[in-house]
Amino acid sequence: MAHPVRFIPILVLLAICLTRGTEGKYRKYAKHVLLVSMDGFRWDYIDKAKTPNFDRLECYGVRSKYVTNVYPTNTFPSHYTAITGLHAESHGIVGNYMYDPDFDEIFTIGTHDTKWWDGGEPAWITARKQGLTSGTMFWPGSEVEIQGLRPNRWYYYNESITYDQRLDIVIDMLKVDKLDFVTLYFHQPDFQGHVSGPSSQGLIDKVEEMDEYIGKLLHKLVVNGLKDDVNLLIMSDHGMTDIDHDNKLVEIWDLVDRSLIERTVDTGALMHVVPVSGQEQAVIDAINSHPHFTAYRKADIPNRLHYKNNRRIMPIFVMADEGWTITFDRDFTRRYTKKGGHGFDNRLMSMKSIFYAIGPNFKPNYAAPPFKSVDLYPLICELLGIRPAPNNGSLCNTADFLKPYRNYNDKFYNYGLLNLLRFYSMQQTRHRKKDGKLTYDLY
Ligand SMILES: [Zn+2]
Repeated sequence: MAHPVRFIPILVLLAICLTRGTEGKYRKYAKHVLLVSMDGFRWDYIDKAKTPNFDRLECYGVRSKYVTNVYPTNTFPSHYTAITGLHAESHGIVGNYMYDPDFDEIFTIGTHDTKWWDGGEPAWITARKQGLTSGTMFWPGSEVEIQGLRPNRWYYYNESITYDQRLDIVIDMLKVDKLDFVTLYFHQPDFQGHVSGPSSQGLIDKVEEMDEYIGKLLHKLVVNGLKDDVNLLIMSDHGMTDIDHDNKLVEIWDLVDRSLIERTVDTGALMHVVPVSGQEQAVIDAINSHPHFTAYRKADIPNRLHYKNNRRIMPIFVMADEGWTITFDRDFTRRYTKKGGHGFDNRLMSMKSIFYAIGPNFKPNYAAPPFKSVDLYPLICELLGIRPAPNNGSLCNTADFLKPYRNYNDKFYNYGLLNLLRFYSMQQTRHRKKDGKLTYDLY
């Protein structure tokens, strides 16, 4: 018959296994994480408008002064960075419009083919791979099968689904489906910023309207009993600056003879150029003759942009100064006359965006320093208690937003026999450290 002492090691191992959830690095905080994006919400819009609900978030949660987004500061690259923690050159969504020389195909924002999207692992997939559930009420990439998986509930992008309907769907995902991680996307105030410009009254009105949706969301979380179970993060993908299509719009053919260029890709604050073989330097020199555009040989693109190591970045890359536009067809661009634009250098303050967070695990009334959008993915993974995939961000930059950890969900771990076992295992660990060897018999 076995001596009772022989069971002790088994109990210790059991205790160690059971307590890993609370004492290991990966642990879950509140039940749900809800990530909301309001497109094109510049960091300082808040100061221009009456925003009582954003102010409420600031008072009861975390507000970062601003977020530095990935380059280029465009919707698809930036949203995919926030959800994967990767720079654009690493996740491969290097633009809203791209050319891939291996595929010999063009990507537009309606491209859902997996082969374009397999350079990163979105948080909704990381969650699913580790046994959690996820849902997306829109997000770039959320309609795509990645690593053979999709969110548990997702929608094809459709702007006719009203903002009120989106809020109701998200509440349903949290309350009824009980999904662990949920995203919600609004295409404003970006659209208004393009139409009337970031300094317009129309923009201020739109910001105040978006503030009302924040109020509605908070109200719905409260009345549905979700307030204490949801860590809510509110972000944006880029800012907005004034553009001038009368005086600051340049057609590339004004600078470079057509015979020297094989292909141009994308327009606006940037352009990729494929020169005719042997004409690379001639094309670069011609573009650089204009004082407000800078053409780089691919290898010379500044390292700080993290925007060169990808085949979808063409041999010559053109960056416009703030407010300037480069196009392949002036009439085409003017047909969609716009007062505001983005996609410019992510160092510009006009390209910075908002960040707010509120919920049981976020500090109240915490003025957070600026951080980078690559840091969002590791924060989301931390809140979900899952291991992040390799990424360019760091939890170190956001960890201070959180209250000291306390496991709100798993009371199971905190009481009774398991706690005694945990205490016992900690004692054993102490003994081990003190003596440099095990102080009890294993067998
Ligand atoms: Zn955007």
